Amino acid sequence: MVKADGYGHGCRIMADTLSKLGIQQFGVASVQEGIVLREAGILGQILVMGGIFPWQLKDLIAFNLIPTLSSDAVAHALSQIVPHDRRPYPIHLEVDTGMRRLGFTVEEALALLQSPMMTHTLSCRGLMTHLADADNPDPAFTLDQLSHLETAVLRLRSANVPIPCVHAANTAGILWHPQACLDMVRPGLMLYGYAPVPKREAPIALQPVMTLTTKVVHVKTVEKGEPVSYGGIHRTRRRSRLAVVPIGYAHGYARQLSNKGEVIIHDQRCPIVGRICMDMTIIDVTDASMVKPGDDVIVMGKSEKQEITAYDLATWQESIPYEVLCNLGPHVHRVYEPLANTCDEAGEPG
Ligand SMILES: *Cc1c(COP(=O)(O)O)cnc(C)c1O
Repeated sequence: MVKADGYGHGCRIMADTLSKLGIQQFGVASVQEGIVLREAGILGQILVMGGIFPWQLKDLIAFNLIPTLSSDAVAHALSQIVPHDRRPYPIHLEVDTGMRRLGFTVEEALALLQSPMMTHTLSCRGLMTHLADADNPDPAFTLDQLSHLETAVLRLRSANVPIPCVHAANTAGILWHPQACLDMVRPGLMLYGYAPVPKREAPIALQPVMTLTTKVVHVKTVEKGEPVSYGGIHRTRRRSRLAVVPIGYAHGYARQLSNKGEVIIHDQRCPIVGRICMDMTIIDVTDASMVKPGDDVIVMGKSEKQEITAYDLATWQESIPYEVLCNLGPHVHRVYEPLANTCDEAGEPG
């Protein structure tokens, strides 16, 4: 899954890197995201997992994207415009087994797949569902969803509807529900090195892919009792040294981190003071050893003794690591390191 610009990591490089590692199918949320990958030269299959508007179907076909359909109307609209030389056009169908978001009921899926339109213009290459509660230590809801999916598959197959590929598992499904790993899995967050919940033991060692760093752009000394940043929600409790770093909510560094979050400077954790601004944040560096402009700041990542993860940021801003990562917008300059130290299964350098 490389939606949301590869969870904030850059979908082109992610898809390109994953292709080189042998991945042949990519999941995106929208037709636009699929087009971005095609225009970047990604050749594998691209599944659009989010909802699709009828007016996007021309682009869907032009860019050779596979829709995950949840609506008869869209299926009909697609069958109307598939060119003769592209028939039958591949689709996946979603069944709603408990997420109550997209997806057909089993009856609706059966009716659609048995309609003449299906045999002539569309070809069902996969049946999928989305797990709503797979990170819950209580597996009941997930097991219930999987049994609904199984029922759907059995009913379709017994009606002689071929279903070549069944898929359900997201990261939480892959990590904690082996029975959800069917013909294909759809890892998202774990590709980027995080499990959905930090404390639950994961059978695979994950390592965060992204480090977010900046540098101190300005330092000043402020007397005791002075208000800091917009609205003065922080007042210095002593004579303080403050460092300004050029990152703010315009970059996706959440304003909820105001007066709450921390960064790492010189291997020490230093608190954010006052409100986060659009492009700047103020850090109290009174207790850090002599901070000066140009010094490195780790916003998310590891120093020798300290580490700030997307979980930490998520806790401070009352969110989840998904949102922390995918909020990092296009203003954040991305630098990619080659996969120098990784090995593939055969032990060959990746
Ligand atoms: C985003 C998404 C995934 C991946 O979810 P993660 O929890 O990030 O692994 C899988 N399937 C669908 C349909 C999705 O939208």
